[in-house]
Amino acid sequence: MNHLLWPDWYFEDITYIPAGFFEKNKIRYLICDIDNTLVSYTDPLPTPPVLDFFETLEREGVQLAFVSNNSKQRVTTFAEPTGKPAVYSAAKPLRRGVRAAMNAIHATLEECAMLGDQLLTDGLAAKNIGMRMILVNPIKDDKKNMLFRTKRRIERPVLRNYLKQHAINDPRPWKSLKTRRKK
Ligand SMILES: [Mg+2]
Repeated sequence: MNHLLWPDWYFEDITYIPAGFFEKNKIRYLICDIDNTLVSYTDPLPTPPVLDFFETLEREGVQLAFVSNNSKQRVTTFAEPTGKPAVYSAAKPLRRGVRAAMNAIHATLEECAMLGDQLLTDGLAAKNIGMRMILVNPIKDDKKNMLFRTKRRIERPVLRNYLKQHAINDPRPWKSLKTRRKK
């Protein structure tokens, strides 16, 4: 049952996405989460690996738009120097923010994918629209509030099952969560 939440692809982080990936999978438009997908919550601006990733996208002819549930200030500070459109307070997993980001780059659903670190916000938003989903591990520990913990608790068995089925051996997200809980 929980395979309904499975992503189409999983990578440890953005640097693991192989060259030619977007071209090969006919992804011409990328709707991208910011927090814990590209940078941690405490990084206001794109870091060098993120800038490299943006260059790769450019090389592969991928149009990029950001979609974040975070505030206007956080999102515009991050996105403005990149010159890419960004939707803040997007209310993922609802569709409207993602739709707005798609419209900003004139994306077609068939050639569009979502990149994010959370199955229950980014992933579910993508599924709600019928968009393909690329999942990466969260860069840093989540915000420590109840909502985030609950979301991760629901995601964990789904991810574990997905990775098992795909013979992927990278248990980092729930390993760190387990360790933290024991303390
Ligand atoms: Mg995120």
